[in-house]
Amino acid sequence: MDGNGPTLDASQAVAPSNPPPSRQDLLNQLITPENGGGGVLAQLQSNPFFTAGFGLAALGAALRYGSRGIQQAAALLRRRLLVDLEITRHDKSYDWVLNWMTAQYQTQLGPQQTRRQVGTLEFVIRRFMPGLHHLQIETLTNKTANGAEQTAFSLVPGRGKHILRYGRAFIAVNREREGKSFDAMGKPFETVTLTTLYHHRHVFESIVTEAHQMSLHNIEGKTVIYTSQNMTWQSSGQPKRRRPFDSVVLEKDLSTRILSDVREFLSARTWYLDRGIPYRRGYLLYGPPGTGKTSFVQALAGALDFNIAMLSLSQRGLTDDLLNHLLLNVPPRTIVLLEDADAAFSNRRQTDGDGYSGANVTYSGLLNALDGVASAEERIIFMTTNHIDRLDDALIRPGRVDMTVQLGNATEWQMGQLWDRFYATHDEKGEGKRRFLRRAIEGGLVGSVSTAALQGLFLYNKDDVEGAIEMLGQWKPVASVQ
Ligand code: ADP
Repeated sequence: MDGNGPTLDASQAVAPSNPPPSRQDLLNQLITPENGGGGVLAQLQSNPFFTAGFGLAALGAALRYGSRGIQQAAALLRRRLLVDLEITRHDKSYDWVLNWMTAQYQTQLGPQQTRRQVGTLEFVIRRFMPGLHHLQIETLTNKTANGAEQTAFSLVPGRGKHILRYGRAFIAVNREREGKSFDAMGKPFETVTLTTLYHHRHVFESIVTEAHQMSLHNIEGKTVIYTSQNMTWQSSGQPKRRRPFDSVVLEKDLSTRILSDVREFLSARTWYLDRGIPYRRGYLLYGPPGTGKTSFVQALAGALDFNIAMLSLSQRGLTDDLLNHLLLNVPPRTIVLLEDADAAFSNRRQTDGDGYSGANVTYSGLLNALDGVASAEERIIFMTTNHIDRLDDALIRPGRVDMTVQLGNATEWQMGQLWDRFYATHDEKGEGKRRFLRRAIEGGLVGSVSTAALQGLFLYNKDDVEGAIEMLGQWKPVASVQ
């Protein structure tokens, strides 16, 4: 390389002769036509296509920000002004609140009411907002322990949005399903959300209290019968009217003796707990079919204001584990009634060979389940059997069975009592009763017909004293009469 040639030094390489325009210059060029920039913006502004597009974009952005602003403002307003109460299906109050809403609809929100009846505001709200006009039917079908099927219907508000009025408050109700999942009972996960003005927030407490009172009122004077469904105790149909205690006629004084025993047990809670003894009491009622074993437990539950959890040990699919689980999870104030107690002992005989138990309760399963019942709450367990001879002594010992009671066929005294229950008004002097009893004694029927069979005879001859006496005369003292 020679010395005359053009040379580049480092300063030339990095410093161009004209320095680049600063940011401010570029901006000026863009916006001002005077300083040689050509006024790019001005040119763009004069371009009708650009201005239209730019205008639209600006408008879109403004709307977007505007609507977001409105949404945020609405959310803020909602947070400030409204208050929600969310109840999930798995909360106990869920059914109460749905039933309460239905009752509200039936009592005050009938769809045909006029503007004058309900006031203009409510009339308009009902016209333009979804009211509780969409009901849904819920059908419950249950099998009782004796295999009979019972069906009960109830109308509840359907899914969707409803408006309700409670006092001065309007309440928006939204009943919705959560996803597509179902619980172990096969019921979908659901929530019901009540929304009202923050100002009226106190109504929620009143609503839930009222709904609870209503549910209590529905079962007042009634006995709830629970049966086992899907591994838990479920109320079987609507609660039943309490069975009057004296409607079941056992041998003289027997009913009151059992009742006093249970009452004494119920009053001895601290005695049991202080001594570390499981607070439970077991009763075994045995005797031929139709002697009032099941009916007596129902009458007893009525007298004590208890409910009944009913299970037949011969029920298919009842395993030891399930029995154990059920006995550990009995609803409060509930008598457990285990029918066909002998079934567990028959299973022992069948399974002794290879130890296979199948899907039925075994003898040891029953004993374990009874021994496992330990609760701070009282546990009253009644077992019934038609075959006491099939039971094992291991069952009938204190802690498992504390009182054994035999219920037999109708005695003369029971026959007289049952007669009075049916014919007191038709046979005031008791003359028909005397003839009836004489015929029963002469025919050898005392002690050989069941109380259920007698009840059947009296029902057949309702209000007909002579018919009942005559029909009894045709009976023979054989077991087949029962
Ligand atoms: P069990 O359980 O002993 O087989 P239930 O209690 O099921 O007998 O009685 C069957 C029917 O007979 C019921 O309708 C019941 O009202 C009637 N019944 C049986 N025994 C009596 C009784 N001692 N007093 C009144 N009714 C009775």
